Amino acid sequence: MPEEHAFLSASGAHRWINCTPSAALEKQFPDTAGSYAAEGTLAHSLAELKLRKQFEVMKLSAYKQRLAEIQSDELYQREMDGYTDAYVDYIRSLCMAFAGTPYVVVEKRLDFSQIVPGGFGTGDCVILYDDTLHIVDLKYGKGVAVSAENNPQLRLYALGAVQEYSLLYTIRQVQMHIVQPRLDNISTDSLTADELQQWGERVKPLAEQAAKGTGEFRAGDWCRFCRAKAQCRARAVQMLEIGKRQTDPLLSDAEIGSILTAAQSLQSWVKSLEEYAERQLIAGKEIPGWKLVEGRSNRTLTDTDAAFQVLEQSGYDAALLYERKPLNLTALEKLCGKKHLTELIGGYIVKPPGKPTVVPAADKRRPYAKKKLEEMFGGKSS
Ligand code: SF4
Repeated sequence: MPEEHAFLSASGAHRWINCTPSAALEKQFPDTAGSYAAEGTLAHSLAELKLRKQFEVMKLSAYKQRLAEIQSDELYQREMDGYTDAYVDYIRSLCMAFAGTPYVVVEKRLDFSQIVPGGFGTGDCVILYDDTLHIVDLKYGKGVAVSAENNPQLRLYALGAVQEYSLLYTIRQVQMHIVQPRLDNISTDSLTADELQQWGERVKPLAEQAAKGTGEFRAGDWCRFCRAKAQCRARAVQMLEIGKRQTDPLLSDAEIGSILTAAQSLQSWVKSLEEYAERQLIAGKEIPGWKLVEGRSNRTLTDTDAAFQVLEQSGYDAALLYERKPLNLTALEKLCGKKHLTELIGGYIVKPPGKPTVVPAADKRRPYAKKKLEEMFGGKSS
């Protein structure tokens, strides 16, 4: 769940662990997460409700009332139901795999201030069974697949949960799970409770620096969601280093590989600079060498119904004026929900092979089959 009050949030831990002064620097910039964050919050509320119904005693009338409230929200979409069901199904299967009944807590406030000054957050679902603690986190975003491996947010939650429950339970193992249903992404990681504590001890001095706003600015993939990313000098220095190192007039394949990797961050950096410049210019400030102009626009009808009425009255057949188009699969999924759509027309849905695409080696997709490339390009190379 979004954490609104912790200065050093668990969700931002990847950033402030790697760039300790970033949290203090970010304070001067507004949070512009906007409607995506609000949509995620609503999905979490729906998931929470379903989990509570599953694992706690809840009157049907109370459930229905809360459900109706959520469904009447303008950000609610039917697909949210299918996605939150997938999350609840995952937790249910996890619990059914145990030999007995686990202890399940939904939306648990977790205090990890023993490691991070003032640190707390909300664990979406905490499960205790035998000697193992499970932390399950729902990610509703669909921009980037989030991995549970070495994930500092989940580890901080786990440290909070160990602190909370270690008097009642002997916790030896910790398993962390991310369920990101809109990307069909399930990711898990595990470590022993001792390893978790050792990790916490390594993070502690960094958290203390981050709380004071001291340490070194270090740019990296963690800059992506930093509010200072447009104006940050450390990031600019890193971006402008690209391609500077060698003197050979031609780039080697190895250099092209490194530049492509760096260029991924470069694209998003340039976009953040453009957004910053636009805000400044709109506010009447100057960005030397740049100005605001009217972008391209397309002609449009002020009143489509009235205009089409005129056309029909002038003798044009309505059948010629309108086209009837089937919805695409994304829109159909929104209309029917993923599960129901698959039940209805799953047999008609195929996924043809995509065109070859260059991606970083760390991408989880399998490399394009060599045989298929030979069929397509006849084994030609430049
Ligand atoms: S943009 Fe990157 S380097 Fe700059 S403060 Fe943020 S996290 Fe640190």
